[in-house]
Amino acid sequence: MSRIMEEVLSANNRYVEAFGEKGTLALPPKRQFAILTCMDARIDPAKMAGLSEGDAHVIRNAGGRASDDAIRSLVISYKLLGTKEWFVVHHSDCGMLLFDDEVMRGLLSKSLETAKITPRGWEDVGKGPGSDEGRYINFLSFHHLEDSVTEDVRRIRRHPLVPGRIPIYGFTYDVKTGKLVEVAEAMKAGKAV
Ligand SMILES: [Zn+2]
Repeated sequence: MSRIMEEVLSANNRYVEAFGEKGTLALPPKRQFAILTCMDARIDPAKMAGLSEGDAHVIRNAGGRASDDAIRSLVISYKLLGTKEWFVVHHSDCGMLLFDDEVMRGLLSKSLETAKITPRGWEDVGKGPGSDEGRYINFLSFHHLEDSVTEDVRRIRRHPLVPGRIPIYGFTYDVKTGKLVEVAEAMKAGKAV
């Protein structure tokens, strides 16, 4: 067993011992909201937003982008599980600000090993072969933090399966301070209608 797997399973044993009443929680999120945010390891949505088990849906992907799949989750979240307010949270120092599709596809075409960031940008240091299949993926990187929040809030707002009654709040999260900061333009775009 890998060391990480051992650590995870022993942490899980401790969690199970203290699980208590959580086994009786209902399926629909008690506080009726959802958060879409980045997978960044520095973000702990539960701590950042004061969540306990059973409180809210948290949907995560690279960048916290409103991809088709994120929207799929949000639609299920309201339609079947009753959420009534949504947050879109992107964050400072996001890895998604550091590349674009062309760069990513180039790196993947050289090798499937982990690339390195250098003062000249990303460089592939691995042994090939790579793969050109990256051309089939839209990696959804972005170049401006606040604008990407607004763009995603707009995309969700305009989706035909998203009802106007659900307000969509746009925020950035500062990885240096832990603070959520409102994005005015996104808040405007995400108002309930
Ligand atoms: Zn990120």
